[in-house]
Order: sequence, then C-alpha cells, then structure tokens
Amino acid sequence: MRLILFGAPGSGKGTQGTFISETFGIPRLSPGDILRDNRRRGTALGKNAEGYMDRGELVPDSLIIDLIRDRLQEPDAANGFILDGFPRTIPQAEALDNLMAELGSEIDWVIYLRVSEESLLERLGGRWTCPTCHQVYSPAVPPRAEGVCDNDGTSLVQRDDDRPEAVQVRITVYNEETAPVLDFYRQHHNVVEVNGERPVEEIREYLTSLLGGGSKGAPLGAALRQTA
Ligand code: AMP
Repeated sequence: MRLILFGAPGSGKGTQGTFISETFGIPRLSPGDILRDNRRRGTALGKNAEGYMDRGELVPDSLIIDLIRDRLQEPDAANGFILDGFPRTIPQAEALDNLMAELGSEIDWVIYLRVSEESLLERLGGRWTCPTCHQVYSPAVPPRAEGVCDNDGTSLVQRDDDRPEAVQVRITVYNEETAPVLDFYRQHHNVVEVNGERPVEEIREYLTSLLGGGSKGAPLGAALRQTA
C-alpha cells in the first residue's frame, strides 16, 4: 500500500499518518520529521533547512527530493509507505512520479484531509509535540498528563513554526504552493477526500474501513463512493 496523506499544516496528517503506519505496518515518511531530526543532530542538511523551517517557508525542492529519494529506497519502504508532508509543490509531485517509475511502482491512493482555514489557525496555535517520538497533541487530542508525552514521558515542546508569525506564513505557502498539488493529483491519481473536521476517532475508523483493515473491512474502491 503506497499512500500520500495530503492536507494543510494542522489538518491532522501527523496524527492520522502515525495511526495508519501502526495499523497497516507501513512506515510513515515525513520530511518535516527527518529535517527536525537532522537539525537536532546538527547535520549539514539540518543547518541548511533551519532558517526556512523557522520562518514557516518551504525548504528548496532539490533538498527535499534528494531526501525522499534516499528514504524511499530504504528496505522498510519496499512494501509500502505513507508519505506525510510530501509532495508540497508541483515539481516535488512530478519528481515523485519519476521516482516511482524508476522504482517500478506507483502511488495507490492520495488521502486528502480537508479542514477550514479557521480551524487550522486554531489548531496550530494550540499544538504541542513530543521531541522524542514526534507525537502531536492539541486541544482535540490532549496528552493524559499535561505537558508530558503519553508514549515516553518526554516534556512536550511547541515547535518554532507553530508560533503565530510562522503559522500565517505556512498557511499562505500552503494555499499558494501546495494546494495546486491536489489538482495535479486529481488529474493523475485516485484522491479520497476526508472531512478532517470530524473527531479524530471517527476519522481513524473511517480510514481503517476505507483502507480495508477495519472490522467492516470495506475495500477502498467501494468506500470511495461513501461520503466522509
Ligand atoms: P511539517 O512537519 O510537515 O509541517 O514540516 C515542517 C517544515 O519542514 C515545513 O514548514 C518546511 O519548512 C519543511 N518541509 C517539510 N516538508 C517539506 C516539503 N515537502 N517541501 C519543502 N519543505 C518541507
């Protein structure tokens, strides 16, 4: 199963991507997480990316495409993956198509989490992240104990790019550079649109049945005709 999880920053990609990864046993490939890890380790890639990231801007395509090309060729991605946060520009989408052709496979489904701009602004302002396992918390998905990750007990942090100035830039960048990628996919691939405003649990259930792993076990093709 080769999936793209598409949506604006704050649409729930991280939460649902982690869930799909665990439920279906496929790795979640997130350039944002890979870049943050490189920054923590002080690598050249991390240093190159940090200014863009803190301002809420996109890192240049060439860096991201190289990063994804390497990641897709790691053994754990051989039988499937879920891309979370890539592609974010038309050149990235074209590069991914070429990469998949080189690897002799293709993207099965693009899952679009649709959320209004008003909700995105509200969610990103209240978002806290675990620096160890990258789990994301928000008022809709709070940790069991305030300020502490449920998975590993690490103190939660607010990402620099979740500060108000950067949030506004990220939404603008999404509207201008990333939203057109959805039209690209609508022409070339199977896009499933999900109402990302629904409660996290409902979306999980819906995605599980959509992807064929739930108790209902509905195959994706049939589920496509459902209204999310
Ligand atoms: P995310 O965690 O997906 O919100 O990504 C955090 C930041 O990493 C973004 O605001 C960008 O600066 C950078 N980034 C992540 N994915 C991409 C991408 N596909 N293209 C360019 N920059 C990216």
